[in-house]
Amino acid sequence: MSTTVTEYVCQDCGTLLRHTNPTTLESMRDVHNQLCIVKRQKTMAAQVAAPKPAAAPSTTAKTPPAATTTTAPAAAIPPAPAPAPAAPAAGGTTTISLTGTGTSYGKAEGPIDAKFKEKRQAAGTYQGIKVWGPIDPPGQLGIWGQEVCIDFDICVADGACIEACPVNVYEWLETPGHPASDKKAFMIREKDCIFCMACENVCPPQAVKIFQKG
Ligand code: SF4
Repeated sequence: MSTTVTEYVCQDCGTLLRHTNPTTLESMRDVHNQLCIVKRQKTMAAQVAAPKPAAAPSTTAKTPPAATTTTAPAAAIPPAPAPAPAAPAAGGTTTISLTGTGTSYGKAEGPIDAKFKEKRQAAGTYQGIKVWGPIDPPGQLGIWGQEVCIDFDICVADGACIEACPVNVYEWLETPGHPASDKKAFMIREKDCIFCMACENVCPPQAVKIFQKG
């Protein structure tokens, strides 16, 4: 009876291993490969000669990339837009002045003359509001208004008309130097009047007269 022998030759050092049991020979081969000096030297030489792999980018880097310096010229800053022109004075034209040499007048007494339109002449306009003379600013200012009328020489700046008006017809107008008061209830929004008569009824010196259109 013949016996079969199995062999293994180490490719690195040339050592010949032989055994009749293949399983045993496989174990011998594993032990040899772990102990083979020539195989170890070849493995170490290959590791030294192999190029180092490029370092992978770090995902935990804390330092941000340096800012890129640009040499491009800065964009030109457009000139600021010109300021909007001032809104024109409300109401319209002004042909009279609130200042002058008329400083020798005393306070006039109410009520306003309901027939003043038949007795007085138009002296001009102030922001589009008609003014009836005679006037001699700043002490004599006449009667102001076409439908909402106030005798400025009687007005004492009580303010009741401004508070009573439901449609905000009035605003204060400074009249320094006038003997009755240094401001007046100015009917700048006369066209908004709804002719409720409230202002005429509350005026203490009765300086107000309302004329309905028609
Ligand atoms: S009459 Fe009435 S709406 Fe006209 S100004 Fe006087 S309070 Fe205002």
